[in-house]
Formats: sequence, structure tokens, C-alpha cells
Amino acid sequence: MKNTDITIIGGGIIGLLTAKELQQAGAKVTVIEKNASAQESSWAGGGILLPLYPWRQADAITQLVIPSIKNYPLLANDLLAETGLDPEWTKSGLLISKNPDSELAKTWCKTNQIPVEAADLSFFAEIHTNVEKPLWLPTIAQARNPRLLKSLKAYLLQQGVEFIENCVVTELVEKNNKIQSLKTNLDEFSVNHVVIATGAWTGEFTQNLFPASQKLQIKPIRGQMILFQAQPDTLSHIILDDDHYLIPRRDGKILVGSSVEEAGFDKSTSEQVKNKLKSFALELFPALKDFFLIAHWAGLRPGTEHGIPYIDNHPEIENLSINAGHFRNGLTMAPASAKLMADLILKRLPEVNPLPYRLTRSE
Ligand SMILES: Cc1cc2nc3c(=O)[nH]c(=O)nc-3n(C[C@H](O)[C@H](O)[C@H](O)COP(=O)(O)OP(=O)(O)OC[C@H]3O[C@@H](n4cnc5c(N)ncnc54)[C@H](O)[C@@H]3O)c2cc1C
Repeated sequence: MKNTDITIIGGGIIGLLTAKELQQAGAKVTVIEKNASAQESSWAGGGILLPLYPWRQADAITQLVIPSIKNYPLLANDLLAETGLDPEWTKSGLLISKNPDSELAKTWCKTNQIPVEAADLSFFAEIHTNVEKPLWLPTIAQARNPRLLKSLKAYLLQQGVEFIENCVVTELVEKNNKIQSLKTNLDEFSVNHVVIATGAWTGEFTQNLFPASQKLQIKPIRGQMILFQAQPDTLSHIILDDDHYLIPRRDGKILVGSSVEEAGFDKSTSEQVKNKLKSFALELFPALKDFFLIAHWAGLRPGTEHGIPYIDNHPEIENLSINAGHFRNGLTMAPASAKLMADLILKRLPEVNPLPYRLTRSE
């Protein structure tokens, strides 16, 4: 490997969009990934570009969500134009069947200029659930995350970003408050500046970089999803019902998600969760009984207690930064997170207030 300006560890959405920001600012960037890039949480997720019930989340999440979702149409268009690979950013709209806190929801939407209206009964002609103050958010979009990541990687390769895949970083060698090199299963690489974007592995990976009281509280939270081979136009919009959802892709396939489980780094799937998701989907939307269930998978979300990521330069190690811990909303928050990370590394004035994402914050 050439000794590049920035070495990013982790090839998920956070690592790749951080690479894009830094490359566009003129840096030479290398991404090191332990598998193939974009195969972990960023592949496994649903791709809804809004947190579930964002009005119940911390303000620090909203601060990253709003600029990110404004940026997505442009990002998706540019990636398609440059690579020919379509991230399938789609303004499907989001129907939420139960909103006991609908006034809070409407206030949040108004403050953040997200159109919202009461959903009338016509939305529920084919949907079976007990509705409570249902809401329709017509501008909420999704991205087809595996395709977004594929397109993003192709773009970065075109721009000269180097990828070193199937390369596990095992140690950051530090001397005089500086990372000197990375030890990996392939080789030892010298570095100038390192960004850790290792998702669910970040808590474990950064253990030795902080005193005991300041260790990053990021742990894997497993999520399982299933997929139905439905036809185009079976369902036109995303539906959120309590904690579960249906997401229709452009080709008609419908994702059903998701579980939230503490199972360490075990990414296996279970029949129990599969059956639970299947029952939920068939009860909510009986039209699905005409279609085969064709896939079932699990991914590991980078879980933090309140879902607020860490985006900061290390307080003592001068050439080390961290962008990780986006829990359930990593795709949604990624553009603004990457921009903030680049602003902090390049010492530009950040557009988003960086304080809530500091490494030294107390949860
Ligand atoms: C079922 C499910 C549904 C979801 N739905 C949504 C949704 O609808 N909307 C949304 O916004 N978010 C959603 N998410 C959350 C979102 O997917 C994550 O927040 C996001 O993908 C995190 O991105 P990341 O780049 O930090 O992590 P990852 O994509 O996991 O990337 C981290 C990378 O680091 C690599 N790595 C780790 N350790 C090392 C090492 N030592 N050396 C080299 N490489 C290493 C890993 O192999 C991995 O590729 C969902 C997640 C799941 C699991």
C-alpha cells in the first residue's frame, strides 16, 4: 500500500461515505475491510431513510437525519450518473398506522419541514391492523442499500480510492500519541491519519485506545429480516406498524423487518424470528400470501444506548478519528456523519454542532 493521507478501517456506508468526503476534499484515501466491503450491517438493513418515530429520538439524531435525507436524492443521482449503478433512491412515502403521540409527530415534521397528513381509510383497504391516529408522510424515501453501497464503491474506485479487502486490522501501533502503523493479517501498513468506521465491532476494536472509564459503549445488536418475492405494484409505500415494517422495492420484492436482539457477534438467523416476522407480514398485508418467502438474513447494528454515534477526533492520539455507533439509523445519518467527520479532520467549520457526538461524552 502507498502511504496515503487517510486510511479508513471499515467498508460499510459510514466508511465509504467518509472516504468520499475526504477524497473530494483532495485527500488520498485507502479503505481497509476485513471481508468484502459492504457486506455487514450496511448490506443487511432495510434502507428506510428516516428513523422509526424520529420524534421519540434524541435531538442529536435529528441534527444528522435532516441534512442527510436532503442530500440523498443528489447523492443517488450523482452515483447513478457516474457509475451506471442505480442506488434506487425512491420516494415511496411512509404510512404509520399507530401514533399515540401524533401531535408530537406533527410538530417534529413541521419543525423539520417534512410533509405529514392524517392517513384516511383508503390507505387501509388492504391493510389489517388496529389504527390509531394514522399518519402519511409522502416524501419519505428509501434506498436499496446493497445497490447504494455497490454504486458508492464503484464511484470511489473510479476516483482512485484504494480498497484493501479481506484484510483484518488486528492492532493500531501507537507511539508518542500517534498511530504509526496498522498490523493486519496481510501486512503491517504505515499510516498518516486513521479513521475507524468499524460499525458493531468498534467497542471491541477500540478497547485499548481509551482509559477504562471512557471506553466506547458500542455493541452488536442483531436484526433479522425476511423477503417476499412480490410483484411490482403489490404495495406502493413503506408501512410502519408498531415496531415492524414492510418496505416495497422497485422490482416488487417486499422486505419485512426486523428483530432487535442481543446475541453478541452471532449473525445466525432463527426459525422463531422468521415465523414471527412472517406472521406479522401476513396478518398486516394478507396479499403477501400469494408470494414466496425467498430470503432471511441477519445483520449486526452498531448499538449505542440512545442511538447517537461517536464522530470525533481522538482526544489524545493526534492522527486518529472515529465515526461509528449509528445503531438503527446508519444509512439515514451517513451523509451528514461523513461530512462532520471530514470537517473535524480537515479543521473546517462544521455545519452540524459536533458536541453531542464527542468521544468523551457521558451517555
Ligand atoms: C436488520 C437491519 C435493519 C436496518 N434498517 C435500517 C434502515 O431502514 N435505515 C437505516 O438508516 N439504518 C438501518 N439499519 C442500520 C444500519 O444498517 C447501520 O446503522 C449502518 O449500516 C452502520 O454502518 P457502518 O458502516 O457503521 O457498519 P457496517 O456496515 O457494519 O460496516 C463496518 C465494517 O467494518 C468492518 N470491520 C470491522 N472490524 C474490522 C477490522 N478489524 N478490520 C477491517 N475491517 C473491519 C466490517 O467488516 C464492516 O464491513 C439496519 C440494520 C439492520 C441490521
